[in-house]
Amino acid sequence: MSLVLDQVTKQFGTFTAVDQLNLKVPEKEMFGFLGANGAGKTTTFRMILGLLDQTAGKITWNGRRIDYATTSEVGYLPEERGLYPKMKVSEQIVYLARLRGMKKQAILKELDGWLERFKVPEYKHKKVEELSKGNQQKIQFIAAVIHKPKLLILDEPFSGLDPVNVELLKKAVKDIKDQGATIVFSSHRMEHVEELCENLCIMHKGSPVVQGNLKEIKRSFEKKNIAIHADFDLAFLSDVPGVLKATYITEGVRLQVESEEIAEQIFRQVAAKGFVRKFELEDPSLHDIFIEKVGASFE
Ligand code: ATP
Repeated sequence: MSLVLDQVTKQFGTFTAVDQLNLKVPEKEMFGFLGANGAGKTTTFRMILGLLDQTAGKITWNGRRIDYATTSEVGYLPEERGLYPKMKVSEQIVYLARLRGMKKQAILKELDGWLERFKVPEYKHKKVEELSKGNQQKIQFIAAVIHKPKLLILDEPFSGLDPVNVELLKKAVKDIKDQGATIVFSSHRMEHVEELCENLCIMHKGSPVVQGNLKEIKRSFEKKNIAIHADFDLAFLSDVPGVLKATYITEGVRLQVESEEIAEQIFRQVAAKGFVRKFELEDPSLHDIFIEKVGASFE
């Protein structure tokens, strides 16, 4: 049950939004899809869902094309939030879930469970336009997952939510994964991807610049971070060759260095000077990697 993109290209006129993208999303996993604004994430999602035809290449879910026959297996939270403002929440969800093949009684039962879980049971009979933007997003999330899809595509699911609601939705997404769904989500928030995904792809101008297992990506990234706490002056470290960045804090310094070898040299240098309270070599953050690969175009 994996999702496979094979040499997928999308052109709008002469502009190439997605360029020969190869992607394999393992089943029952949460896959992170990152990229700066305009990198091609939403376009890719729309092609996966069959809402947009690719110019070239092939997309399969479980060996087949995603189309009307697979509607009940797939869930989608689009980036543009679009519920009918004048419709009541319950009518809206019943309408959308019936399109996914569910029966009304089952829908209402599931809906009650979800509204309870998201701490908004009182909204069931309210019109969508009466809800705040964040609460509308929760309702749209419910619409995307109520039929228990096997493949769930979430475009920026946590954007615009307060921290409490981010946690509620994150927990819901984790539970859906634990129940066996394959989930692909896009996000500009690196910490969400670090927390939730084993595999990821960073897109830049329609092509992947980094792809694979998060831990391996971090380990294979040459540059490392070091945290050093010591009782003596560490100012000399910013002039050591191989030190790319030095941020001084009260207890010591945080360095970004070119490689692990440089880290070893620094370790010897500081140890020779006196008592070192802390010396910690850290893998780079996804944020560091993103900035390195995507550069200044990240907003
Ligand atoms: P964001 O993070 O800002 O949502 P994204 O990675 O989702 O960005 P896309 O929406 O996929 O980016 O857009 C990729 C590129 O394709 C952009 O340069 C966009 O202007 C272009 N594009 C998208 N849809 C169309 C369209 N219908 N016609 C022409 N160009 C389009």
